[in-house]
Amino acid sequence: MKNPSELFSRTSGRRIAACFWILAMIVPQGCQKAEKPPEEAVLVSVENLQTAYGVSLKRRRMYDLFVPKAEKEKFRGVAALYRALSRSEGIHATLHDSLLRRNNVTPQEPRYDSVVVGTTMQTLKMALSSEELEQTSMYPNLFRTAMAENYTEGADQFTMIQAVEDRHVELLRDAQDKAGRIGSAYFVCPGCGFIMTSAKTEECPVCKTPATAFTKI
Ligand SMILES: [Zn+2]
Repeated sequence: MKNPSELFSRTSGRRIAACFWILAMIVPQGCQKAEKPPEEAVLVSVENLQTAYGVSLKRRRMYDLFVPKAEKEKFRGVAALYRALSRSEGIHATLHDSLLRRNNVTPQEPRYDSVVVGTTMQTLKMALSSEELEQTSMYPNLFRTAMAENYTEGADQFTMIQAVEDRHVELLRDAQDKAGRIGSAYFVCPGCGFIMTSAKTEECPVCKTPATAFTKI
């Protein structure tokens, strides 16, 4: 029969060795956790980015489809506004595309819905309700989720685009109030997609891109 103290000592030795082994496994994992790649840390926000990317592309296509009808009905200002909105949504898609790729995710093309193009006043109403949905529901939700996941880069991007979406709503509401009789001068910021009706400003109010870089529509 083994000496109880010897048995204790052997057991303790094994326990100590096991503890060292566990520590050796845990410590590097702890370090890896701190440097965890973004896609593991921000799962929901990355899915949201994919959704936002798809929505931006769908909106761009919708505006492109609305332009010919507005031109045909001699709403020159509305046609120009739709071109500006299309350009702006395209910039948002590019921003989401870049962020997805930084998370090692390849952006997926959305499944485009069929769009019925009515009269220009009808398309204005449809555009406004789509943009209001993005402004009041989609981007605030994306921002909240990014904050909950401590995904600052995503939260910053959603906040910036939210400001541009506010502007989309403002311009469309104005166009609707004026029954489509609006000006046709538009300038789009290439950094964030903000739309201006004049280039008489030094920089974009949202992302501070200099006015010299604005795209004239
Ligand atoms: Zn900007």
